Amino acid sequence: DSDRDLLLSYIRDVPDWPEPGVTFKDITPLLRDPAAFDTMIELLGAVGGEDVDVVVGIEARGFILGAPVAHRLGAGFVPVRKQGKLPWKTSAASYSLEYGEATIEVHVDAFKPGERVLVVDDVLATGGTVRATVDLVRGGGADVVGVGILMELGFLNGRDKLADVNIQSLLVV
Ligand code: IMP
Repeated sequence: DSDRDLLLSYIRDVPDWPEPGVTFKDITPLLRDPAAFDTMIELLGAVGGEDVDVVVGIEARGFILGAPVAHRLGAGFVPVRKQGKLPWKTSAASYSLEYGEATIEVHVDAFKPGERVLVVDDVLATGGTVRATVDLVRGGGADVVGVGILMELGFLNGRDKLADVNIQSLLVV
């Protein structure tokens, strides 16, 4: 529809970045446009339905999207960060990348049992990052009521790792 056409028109394809053969989806033109930014935040905020207690944003672009979604919903915000960045006690989850492993962390006291959590990130690629994030939220005793993604790279089949999650992408390419 027209909202999605608007969002798509503000995403820039950058060929061969960060390495040859990869086409990077650059969302900075979308962030720069007030109407597109507002539309994106409204649509992402709708993914979790009513009664979201906490929005989780994944470092780093997930912070830019997640914080305004949380504020709009009257929810709190929790950052999930790369290993070694959070100052307090953490829980960690690791997942495999094409070469090697990545680890993300969240504070151990970030969630209360039964809280309703909406996870937000910019791009779903292989799905490893969101899978690990969902596992961290559930490990903290909270419920993942939705995962809102701006853009899903459908050809990487990341969704296959998330069959047990309500994941909604505003754009699929
Ligand atoms: P995944 O774990 O393979 O699904 O990778 C997803 C993570 O990598 C997200 O946190 C994205 O921000 C980032 N990412 C992967 N590809 C792109 C891209 O083309 N543009 C922006 N971020 C990307």
